Amino acid sequence: MNNADLIQRDLAAIWHPCSQMKDHEWLPMTPIKRGEGVWLEDFDGNRYIDAISSWWVNIFGHANPRINAALREQMESLEHVILSGFTHQAAIELAERLIKLTPAGLNRCFYSDNGSSAVEVALKMSFHYWHNSGQHKKQRFINLSNSYHGETLGALAMGDVALYKETYGALLLEPITVPSPDSFYRDAGESEEAYSRRMFVYMEQTLEQHADQVCAVIVEPLIQCAGNMRMYHPVYLELLREACDRHNVHLIADEVAVGFGRSGTLFACEQANITPDFMCLSKGLTGGYLPLSVTMTTDNIYEAFYDDYDTLKAFLHSHSYTGNALACRAALATLDIFEQDNVIENNRALASYMKQATAHFTDHPHVAEVRQTGMVLAIEMVEDKVTRKPYPWQERRGLTVYRHALKHQVLLRPLGNVTYFMPPYVINTDEIDLITEVAWQGIQLACE
Ligand code: PMP
Repeated sequence: MNNADLIQRDLAAIWHPCSQMKDHEWLPMTPIKRGEGVWLEDFDGNRYIDAISSWWVNIFGHANPRINAALREQMESLEHVILSGFTHQAAIELAERLIKLTPAGLNRCFYSDNGSSAVEVALKMSFHYWHNSGQHKKQRFINLSNSYHGETLGALAMGDVALYKETYGALLLEPITVPSPDSFYRDAGESEEAYSRRMFVYMEQTLEQHADQVCAVIVEPLIQCAGNMRMYHPVYLELLREACDRHNVHLIADEVAVGFGRSGTLFACEQANITPDFMCLSKGLTGGYLPLSVTMTTDNIYEAFYDDYDTLKAFLHSHSYTGNALACRAALATLDIFEQDNVIENNRALASYMKQATAHFTDHPHVAEVRQTGMVLAIEMVEDKVTRKPYPWQERRGLTVYRHALKHQVLLRPLGNVTYFMPPYVINTDEIDLITEVAWQGIQLACE
């Protein structure tokens, strides 16, 4: 079996995610045979560093021996069981451990099986909480511009990336969108903190005006990942928590992408020292092994649903694979690694190495900004460095970086004009040097 055979069979049968399939007339698909650590290997023997953690899910490398062993053991006893009326050890242990690890007060775990579903659950629970509490006017949500929360209709509606959303406008809920505190737009000489404080005024005004109709504010804490890895200061979350309390509105923290160490702390909310009313987790939850997500919430919210059956207050949402035993076991093995390996501290050293390694990108004539939050580092290309005029999206300059990187052993997958590193935490400094060098060359080519 080689790449060519598999590509041919693939293209005859599979419709791939987030892809214009016609591109594959000239853009080769890459069939992967095996993975080990940060490395992927195709059927022709080419190797690639997975510098984007396979869509931000992998944290401890491919074919991780510790997660493999845990899964083998789980598989021998229970692969899956219905989680309504039944339960199992892995789901219980995982919920107990997540309650201990997440910000104080998140005492209830509702499982589902992908990030979008975790967001849908938070939206429905928030709406339903106000409904059960007799506040029937609360039916809307506030989001930030440039946000992303997934692709199912409810989650898509809460996002603000036109590329994914615009076509489906007629089908979507309409949130009240507040300008993002995205630090890219701060004035020259203005600190990120000052800018986040300044931008919070719009949120405060919106809450003042609409709080009686609003269920919740939904945000991606610290990094708007799919929105080109734009970042903001933790003070925004601090101000938001206080304002949501004052206006009697829930706060939904979508940590699907930033949870489990990506932001530099185990959860991004820790950097603002806040507890949201809902926290959505997925991706790194299982170390990148299996689909699982969890919507965590407070006792207060749980209790608004807890009543006699005939009051019809129960949350009747379900997914067939809720709390899958194998996925929960992979998540437990992932948490074991966090516990045993001093991951957050090691990541601090890796993050600072990435920063040093890419310092020279700032001087590139077509790089507007190199920004970083923890284990996410982003390099933004622009047509004009002074005005920050972006390259037109139709030119697909990021694709040049992607194609160059694949030829040189690295999987980078720029978002528009933004090349980013979001590697598994088991990457070493030589591998960081390689992805940096390849990104530099790719950006040079793309800016020609
Ligand atoms: N929320 C955020 C912040 C995300 O980045 C993503 C996925 N990129 C999602 C939700 C959706 O998760 P999933 O793709 O598992 O549905």
